[in-house]
Amino acid sequence: THTLHIVGGGMAGSEAAWQAANMGVQVVLHEMRPKVKTFAHQTGNLGEMVCSNSFRSDDHEQNAVGLLHWEMRQAGGLIMRTAQEHRLPAGGALAVDREAFAEKVTSTLRAHPNISISHEEVVNLPDDGQWIFATGPLTSAGLGEAIQRETGADRLAFFDAIAPIVYAESIDMSVAWRQSRYDKGETEEEQKAYINCPMTKDQYEAFIDALLAADKTEFHEGETAGYFDGCLPIEVMAERGRETLRHGPMKPVGLTNAHKPDEKAYAVVQLRRDNALGTLYNIVGFQTKMKYGAQTAVFKTIPGLQDASFARLGGIHRNTFLNSPTLLDNQMRLRSRPNIRFAGQVTGVEGYVESAAMGLLAGRMAASEILGRALPVVPQDTAHGALIHHITGGAEAKTFQPMNVNFGLFRPLEASGIKGGRRGRKDRYKAYTDRAKQAWTGWLADQHEGQAAST
Ligand code: FAD
Repeated sequence: THTLHIVGGGMAGSEAAWQAANMGVQVVLHEMRPKVKTFAHQTGNLGEMVCSNSFRSDDHEQNAVGLLHWEMRQAGGLIMRTAQEHRLPAGGALAVDREAFAEKVTSTLRAHPNISISHEEVVNLPDDGQWIFATGPLTSAGLGEAIQRETGADRLAFFDAIAPIVYAESIDMSVAWRQSRYDKGETEEEQKAYINCPMTKDQYEAFIDALLAADKTEFHEGETAGYFDGCLPIEVMAERGRETLRHGPMKPVGLTNAHKPDEKAYAVVQLRRDNALGTLYNIVGFQTKMKYGAQTAVFKTIPGLQDASFARLGGIHRNTFLNSPTLLDNQMRLRSRPNIRFAGQVTGVEGYVESAAMGLLAGRMAASEILGRALPVVPQDTAHGALIHHITGGAEAKTFQPMNVNFGLFRPLEASGIKGGRRGRKDRYKAYTDRAKQAWTGWLADQHEGQAAST
């Protein structure tokens, strides 16, 4: 069969359909709205933005999400092209008129000769044909059950519980030290897998006060069912008793301050490595519903994190997502059912732009497979490559939580022979984006050549 079926016409599914159809593949796009609704979507349009009307920073020299914009534009992306057409003034951000945007995405896909749209809910994983599931954070319940039957219940989560992620280089190691609790582990690397930040009693008490006083976000209506099965937000733990955290994620036992071996810490905040590169660390057990401003203020009171810079802040949301590092291969195919790909937020990326980007890749990958063309491997030094590499291999499977694009996911500059060490941040980010652009341009050119050779 030469038809590609795509389930879900959100950011990822719309982009995937566009990319595949432009490669000459017949696409059927299955979208359950408006017949079946979600608690967040308001219309039956494709490419509907459920909350903010912004695609975030458009700066492709200094910002990883802006670099994704750039890469998608080079690849003829529908989401970026349409965003540009309906752009609103928003400083350095790419914000759009959301209704005009979604209407245009819908009419463009409808008008495409290779695309047909079918408004129906899909509730099983078909045995035959090529499929991309891009059903997003609010994947319908019936489909969620079908996925769990295939993957096992523990491999599909319905809520994320995101602990803040810190750039390793911004942690003050003259205060913090590396050590696993009770020095557990076979190798020295494992015995020093965690970074520890010590607190005195006064610091701990002030920290609890700050948690209790911080501004928090509320859940949307209909969003909370099942959430307390997961992890409690730290501020809820603090509300349950001032000592709860000290007996939970902040317990000081089994750790000796390498800088002050004689001083017993009253509490310890631990950070755990979040990616294979070792550039990102998450604060263990610190999932939170505090507002972003409050999080930065509160977390910077932790000794060692006073200058921390955050790759992402914490959150807890209704969010259906796979344990992609264990379930998907590097082509986003389900290992157990290779005729099925996943794309978008359900693969464990986070955000409109990241979701559209994974749709772009999945659409090209599936179309190449149908057309019998080899798709060159997505270069890891691009923003697309860094993201897909993270979700399908680089991230820790055990603690996998959704991720947005950031420079911490990129291989260090030194890995490709570029001197990075002593540069300032601005210079380094420019070097990352230059390297990415070159690799992405080459990847796109290789596909044109492959296409020319096969026709
Ligand atoms: P979606 O855009 O959600 O598209 C999935 C599509 O699949 C939907 O149209 C849905 O109707 C359809 N579908 C689901 N199940 C089925 C089925 N069984 N059969 C057929 N169709 C199905 N990201 C941001 O960048 N900024 C924000 O401000 C933001 N706010 C958010 C607020 C909320 C409440 C939620 C839930 C998410 C938010 N996100 C935000 C994340 C955002 O949803 C994603 O970034 C983005 O929309 C994901 O794209 P997607 O294509 O993977 O999923």
